[in-house]
Amino acid sequence: MTMLAEARNLSIDFGPLRAVSDVSIAIAAGETVGLVGESGSGKTTLGKALIGLYPPATGEVALAGRSLDRAARRDRLWRGRTAQLMFQDPLSSLSPRLTLRSLLAEPGRIHGLETKAYWARVKHLLAAMAIPESLLGKYPHQVSGGQVRRVAIARALALEPRFVVADEPTAGLDVSVQGDLLNLLAELQSRLGLTYLVVSHNLNVVRKITGRVAVMYLGEIVEEGPTRALFARPAHPYTAALLSANPQVDPGRRREKIVLEGEIPSPLKPPSGCRFHTRCPKAEARCRAEHPEATDLGEGRRVRCHFPLA
Ligand code: SF4
Repeated sequence: MTMLAEARNLSIDFGPLRAVSDVSIAIAAGETVGLVGESGSGKTTLGKALIGLYPPATGEVALAGRSLDRAARRDRLWRGRTAQLMFQDPLSSLSPRLTLRSLLAEPGRIHGLETKAYWARVKHLLAAMAIPESLLGKYPHQVSGGQVRRVAIARALALEPRFVVADEPTAGLDVSVQGDLLNLLAELQSRLGLTYLVVSHNLNVVRKITGRVAVMYLGEIVEEGPTRALFARPAHPYTAALLSANPQVDPGRRREKIVLEGEIPSPLKPPSGCRFHTRCPKAEARCRAEHPEATDLGEGRRVRCHFPLA
């Protein structure tokens, strides 16, 4: 299987803060993988690192078979055609001084793409997202937040990148538009063979569109596996707690409600042993002393826990 994006023993530091700690993950071409966890778990940082936006403190990242060393990270043209980030906050990523038409034209111009074919793609994307062409003469602040968001998505996808990191793709959108957007992402995936990493705290969205999911806590991947199996039988107590706090993910299933005690510890000073032990309802003495290794549970599942549930 060809791996499109891969991190091996990756750590990302921001000064004294280790935001991502010794993470290994491999995403195959054509897959849709979810990355879930609370705010501050490191999921957005990992997503951005996988497309070369942060240099590793340790370990390495490869994209489309090319190691993302310094030269590859600086090769913006290649990176732009290979991977794109769908921003959580599109307004901050779009110049307020350009019209929507200019904003949409920019990636094609920068990458030297043939104008006619490029605009045909942009127009298809806009039509699919119900953005009338009459809006293209306006500036970002003159249209609604949902419309800006959809223009930003069209801009990211117009280059037809192979790998897309979608950071909270449906946040702030009406439920009806959310459904349209998820359908559009699925359509583009089957038409273009796209590969997605969907970074989201919305487990409902993740359950709907991903085939595999990784769960992050305090900079580590604590569990990963096929979405259906992992949501049906979580192996890590943290995953079980996340799912029990979101009964709408699977309304037919009765789950024991797990309330997490205590605050999320500071990532500047993560707990010794298992990082989750200060909040884990199953914690034992060993958990405080010994950092659990990732254990293979078979069927593509891995968990970082001394006493897995599944
Ligand atoms: Fe809980 Fe211990 Fe497993 Fe950590 S290793 S998740 S503290 S049971």
